[in-house]
Amino acid sequence: MNLPQSTKLRLSHYTSVVLHRYADWRIGATALEKHCYRTSDSILLTFDDYGTKTEVHEILAILSEYRVKAMFFLQADWAGEHPKLVKKIAAAGHVLGNHSVTHPVLFTLSPQEITQEISRGLPGPWFRPPQGRYNDTIRTIAHGLGYVICYWTIDSRDWAGTSVTEMRHTILTELKPGAVILFHLHGAHTRELLPTIIADIRGRGLQLTPPTESWHVPANYL
Ligand SMILES: [Zn+2]
Repeated sequence: MNLPQSTKLRLSHYTSVVLHRYADWRIGATALEKHCYRTSDSILLTFDDYGTKTEVHEILAILSEYRVKAMFFLQADWAGEHPKLVKKIAAAGHVLGNHSVTHPVLFTLSPQEITQEISRGLPGPWFRPPQGRYNDTIRTIAHGLGYVICYWTIDSRDWAGTSVTEMRHTILTELKPGAVILFHLHGAHTRELLPTIIADIRGRGLQLTPPTESWHVPANYL
């Protein structure tokens, strides 16, 4: 089917928003979780999972060129095999978060297995459940281990091979002060999109999370 470009853009945006609203309703993500416990208007870019050496290096190079600090939610099994890449991300001043060890859908596991997936993952306080899928049991286990959940407000859908034009349309339509944007290190067109979307965000007068922003989770949330 050969759809006109404007229809494709609308469809892609609609898919992102509908899936996100469904997830919100099903999961009950709180405003604090969606905004990663930040109260500022700045925009936060997040990169999940794992990537090839080239993908990681290129994303770090772009973030460095545009002086942007981001959050990286890494699978611990990948991180354990790529200590140099993980060190490089941290040394560039980005923030690391726990994204479980093996990226299972957590609510299919027993409480003991959930505990292991989180406690053997990257150090706290940030935890992003695989696929953004969690419930009260998972939230309680995470809190008990000293983690808070960092969800997102905009899914770029880069994991689905979404085109640069479609991702840009969705992100700019959904962009609001304080937004948290979900990307993946292995996203097919993520690196191509990044310089443009960073310029777009700044062009709207919004800041990207500065390195000076407080990353401390208030103690009463843990
Ligand atoms: Zn993931």
